[in-house]
Amino acid sequence: MTTGYTKAVLALGSNLGERNDTLSEAVADLVDPPEVRLLAVSPVVQTKAVGGPAGQPDFLNMVITVETTLSPLKMLEHCQTVENKHHRVREVRWGPRTLDVDIIVYGELVSDDPVLTLPHPRAATRAFVLYPWSLIEPGATLNGERISVLATRAADFGDLAPFDGFGDFDGVPTAGAVEQP
Ligand code: AMP
Repeated sequence: MTTGYTKAVLALGSNLGERNDTLSEAVADLVDPPEVRLLAVSPVVQTKAVGGPAGQPDFLNMVITVETTLSPLKMLEHCQTVENKHHRVREVRWGPRTLDVDIIVYGELVSDDPVLTLPHPRAATRAFVLYPWSLIEPGATLNGERISVLATRAADFGDLAPFDGFGDFDGVPTAGAVEQP
């Protein structure tokens, strides 16, 4: 990491509209300011919507790692600006949304502030965050546990499928760091 920059892990999801295009544009928007530098981009995975109304379209999810000189709250503001640019629909909690951007970790920061809780309070139980993250950072840990191990333990692990363009198409996550428990 370059001096003055803090590494952060961001999770992106989309289940409305041109989902893959939205994710691509969102990555570009997130790393557009000079204060945010792209480190790594995960593959895109397809997942069932967790919680919220029944019958929602599947989500496309991915994780990126960045390094930034933005403060944590400025980073959150930046993520929300990018969400809003993509006309995120916020009427229903956990309902369909064009784009969702969460900060999973910001450096080593731990915070229980509801405005910005770090690490993200639900990340450790979401395979749709943990699995793509494990593909770009196989050695990463969260709450003291390997993220690949947490991914296999998550209730939604079996719902993950590769998106067009990589891996097998039998609905089972393929190459990468996930180890069977
Ligand atoms: P959601 O609609 O589920 O994406 O939640 C958005 C709200 O969660 C916003 O009001 C944020 O202030 C808050 N929030 C708390 N912690 C985080 C985090 N780590 N990343 C993104 N949003 C967060």
